[in-house]
Amino acid sequence: MARLRIATFILLSVASGAHAREILKTERCLSGSVIQDRLLEKEYVAGDFHLFYSLQGNDRLRHTGDSNGNGTPDSIENMAIQLQAAQRFYSGALGLRSPLRQKVFANAGQINIYVLRKDRGKGAAFDKVSRERMADGTTLPCALKLIVDTSVNPLRNVTPAHELFHLYQYGYGVFKQRWYLEGMARWLEMPYRDSSKGMAAVAPSLNCPDYANASYDAAIFWHRYAQRYFAPVDVPAGLRQLTYTDGSPVFKQSALPGGAMLVPFFDSLFRASQQISQQQQVANTQWTEKMQRSPQFSQDICDVLSAITPQRGAAAR
Ligand SMILES: [Zn+2]
Repeated sequence: MARLRIATFILLSVASGAHAREILKTERCLSGSVIQDRLLEKEYVAGDFHLFYSLQGNDRLRHTGDSNGNGTPDSIENMAIQLQAAQRFYSGALGLRSPLRQKVFANAGQINIYVLRKDRGKGAAFDKVSRERMADGTTLPCALKLIVDTSVNPLRNVTPAHELFHLYQYGYGVFKQRWYLEGMARWLEMPYRDSSKGMAAVAPSLNCPDYANASYDAAIFWHRYAQRYFAPVDVPAGLRQLTYTDGSPVFKQSALPGGAMLVPFFDSLFRASQQISQQQQVANTQWTEKMQRSPQFSQDICDVLSAITPQRGAAAR
């Protein structure tokens, strides 16, 4: 019996070794239904981004001014400018892997932005890869997707850059705890803002688990924690020169304090996501929304942060 157990153990070990390689799977391209009742007759392409919008009906674009007379509304051009600038900042300056280059999203060839009239909120980002079909039967290529509300004016609103950052988060792991997802994405809005809006002036706790029930307001934690333990990352000169159609700069700050935290954090989160998927015996693509949002994994995210933090992490290594 003992021998059988050992044999079983060895077999399981071999099997789990194989499983480790398969636990990181690629999302299948699903048939999406986000725009099945809509008709977005206009498409504007800028690099990886395909912006779909309408000039009529319920989803009519709110800001339709076209100051340069090139046939594309400024608000759409500015959305594309903001998204491309953000992509260059996240992938270029900060060194993060584009969601389109992550194995999990290998079936997506582009990022589609649907400008729709939303009932709640200004934007949304999705962690599934889909082929969307419009009301007139037009079927779009397999893509990652963002939704931006028709009222968003990118000159005063960083929703597109914020939602794009969520795609980066989804590329690295399965986790969707709000204090991590929204708190970190809100922190990453800072370089595009004149002031540190929404950032509390009082010094907050730097104890990660204290924020498990927070949401956007955890931005102050990420900001202060990163700033304390990690070097700033400059916004490169080439990005600082980028302007919207009215000549105003996309980046309002010259650096992201603590930005050097992001690469080690996400590399470590990427591994943690796979280890936990293996423990749970659930491949990354099979996690339910409830699991992804479960508070039980908040401590794992805090552990990732602790392990990569100089000094604080030294004892653990
Ligand atoms: Zn968000």
